[in-house]
Amino acid sequence: MLKGKSAVVTGSTSGIGLAIARALAKEGANVMLNGFGDAAEIEAARKGIEDEFGVRALYRHADLSDGQAAHDLVAAAEADLGAVDILVNNAGIQHTAPIQDFPVEKWDAIIAVNLSSCFHTMRAAIPGMQTRNWGRIINTASVHGLVASKDKAAYVAAKHGLVGMTKVVALENAQHHITCNAICPGWTRTPLIQAQIDARAEKFGGDEDAGIRDLLSEKQPSQRFVMPENLAAMCVFLCSEAADGITGVSLPMDGGWTAQ
Ligand code: NAD
Repeated sequence: MLKGKSAVVTGSTSGIGLAIARALAKEGANVMLNGFGDAAEIEAARKGIEDEFGVRALYRHADLSDGQAAHDLVAAAEADLGAVDILVNNAGIQHTAPIQDFPVEKWDAIIAVNLSSCFHTMRAAIPGMQTRNWGRIINTASVHGLVASKDKAAYVAAKHGLVGMTKVVALENAQHHITCNAICPGWTRTPLIQAQIDARAEKFGGDEDAGIRDLLSEKQPSQRFVMPENLAAMCVFLCSEAADGITGVSLPMDGGWTAQ
């Protein structure tokens, strides 16, 4: 379905982003991976995508807390893959604390990675998409782009900001066959939430399963984690021609969290 298209997926060395990159590649898209991690593991993931799906898969480290690096990631993908038809802004970090204790450097880092990097990559990718009169942008927001939880001032601010910016970019490009949407996952088991699982487990004498049950029962009515592969399938659909009329929306996949 996406043969001949090229995609940049930020934060695709792990978790949701890796699942999205693999799903786009499975549909025939060439992909540019990005993010941190063990070099050998990243290379295995990159090569695995090429071997399994017969597409080109590249990797660029690009620390997205630096706006120029975010811009250069898109420019490098355009140079090396020929175009950026699909942009998935997925990289994200988390820190939890009440606002009066929230470290200023954590605020700055979360706003830079979870929000500003998306501005820089979209700003860099849109001109090429407009020239080709086709594009798909998917921003990994969160339920926290739609509702709040305590102790997450920076994350909630960044994700609400991303939902807003998604609508602006959708409006500006509505006549260019460029869609821009946000996906809004609920609890998804990835390294991003491990610190929060550990903190809950501590309340139950280190029992991780009890901690997870407690975490899920508080917010996620399904009481099951969202699966990265299911989020990736939603992204594939948003990249399809069938989704040509879906733009500017924020789609929750949250086991009922935001229905409450
Ligand atoms: P993860 O920790 O598995 O993946 C995060 C990715 O971002 C990794 O590839 C990491 O290397 C990359 N990254 C972090 N800082 C970076 C930087 N400065 N520059 C470049 N790359 C960087 O976490 P995940 O859960 O897969 O998170 C992916 C996205 O999903 C995030 O935007 C997160 O906010 C969002 N999200 C996650 C959940 C959840 O429950 N896991 C829920 C809602 C939204």
